Amino acid sequence: MQTNFTPVQLADAGVQEADSILRKCVHCGFCLSTCPTYALLGDERDSPRGRIYLMKDMLESGEVRDTAVRHIDRCLSCLACTTSCPSGVDYMHLVDSARARIEGEYTRPLSDRLFRALLAVLLPRPWLFRLSLIAAIPGRWVAWALPARLRRLVATAPRGGIPAPSPIHAPQVFAAHGPRRKRVALVQGCVQQVLGGRISEATVRVMRGRGCEVVVSEGAGCCGALPHHLGRLDEAKAFAKRNIAAWIREDTERGLDAIVLNASGCGTTLRDYGHMFADDPEWRDRAARVAALARDVSEVLTDLGGSTGADLLGAPSIAYHDSCSLRHGQGITRQPRDLLAKAGFVVAEVGEGHMCCGAAGTYNVLQPEIADQLGARKAANLAQTGAGAMACANLGCMLHLARFTDLPMVHTVELLDWAAGGPRPEPMARGPVANQ
Ligand code: SF4
Ligand code: SF4
Repeated sequence: MQTNFTPVQLADAGVQEADSILRKCVHCGFCLSTCPTYALLGDERDSPRGRIYLMKDMLESGEVRDTAVRHIDRCLSCLACTTSCPSGVDYMHLVDSARARIEGEYTRPLSDRLFRALLAVLLPRPWLFRLSLIAAIPGRWVAWALPARLRRLVATAPRGGIPAPSPIHAPQVFAAHGPRRKRVALVQGCVQQVLGGRISEATVRVMRGRGCEVVVSEGAGCCGALPHHLGRLDEAKAFAKRNIAAWIREDTERGLDAIVLNASGCGTTLRDYGHMFADDPEWRDRAARVAALARDVSEVLTDLGGSTGADLLGAPSIAYHDSCSLRHGQGITRQPRDLLAKAGFVVAEVGEGHMCCGAAGTYNVLQPEIADQLGARKAANLAQTGAGAMACANLGCMLHLARFTDLPMVHTVELLDWAAGGPRPEPMARGPVANQ
């Protein structure tokens, strides 16, 4: 794609990077067929190629127009387009920088700004998020009186109650069972600390059983993905710095073989810390070290080898849902399937496996109509498998999809834990029905 930046514009490192990304696009349109928003809306401006043109125009003109904001806001950042692009267009960094520019230069309506600020404050802070969920329980009774977006937010609180805080999240060290083979830090995440503590508990049990010493480091928390996707780069960096400081201290003092993730949405961001701080000489090297250590739990378990065996389970059939952040963001598809199969489960493939389920971080509350259509479509594809449960690597997908299907949803690592003698996983509590 031809670009027309001035030398003055190209003096900006961000514009320079965008220029090199844009120039790789050859307009071929291969990405269109894999884009969920294009599949639903059929508008070129809601396709990767269309958005690339809009971002190019935004950067070249220096103007952030309503049309560009509308269509970029509708992008899920699912990165299916990156997987299908034969030219290697780095769509993720292009759309990330466009979002940061929109956040900095575009004036959204006041209600939008307040709602986005509320999400950016609440979600990354587990104590605040827990409080807001508690407040949302009586809030359901007056939900009818709330603005539509707040009503939706209140409706996302799980119906089955809020899980009690898990002791797993306190800073501590879990010794390996048997001889120590690896020393790893566990990423706790933010929303997952409140709604998915059981996933981290299962992760620690499985890792210890395979010979890992597992550290929960003091000071580490939200990876910054949620503010990052809202275009709030400074806030995302502040969260990232806290993590980098905590894990580098751990690595320097006692050594780390990996930083283990069990929320794939965090994985894509953590692996990108090196890029996030590429222009910051104070943090660059430490950020790159953390990014290099980041591994999905399925990768670490695959490296460790060994089968858990699960003869007692009667080979239940599991529909494996690829979260976009694992499949497209990190290119991990084989390991979870292999681990489940080795543990004794029959892995069923889900139709349209490349398609986002609509959860996409805060997308399901910011763009509920599209998110609900994608959720219903994914639920229909899951039903087609005939499987008895769904497994995936991201709590966000589970929370969103639980609104569209009765299929029990569990994290892959919970099934591996069960197969290794851990507790039978409790399926995600069914949430409110779509459009409520
Ligand atoms: S990230 Fe997903 S929604 Fe956005 S343009 Fe690419 S394929 Fe479409
Ligand atoms: S597939 Fe890649 S090169 Fe082709 S239009 Fe899409 S982004 Fe551009």
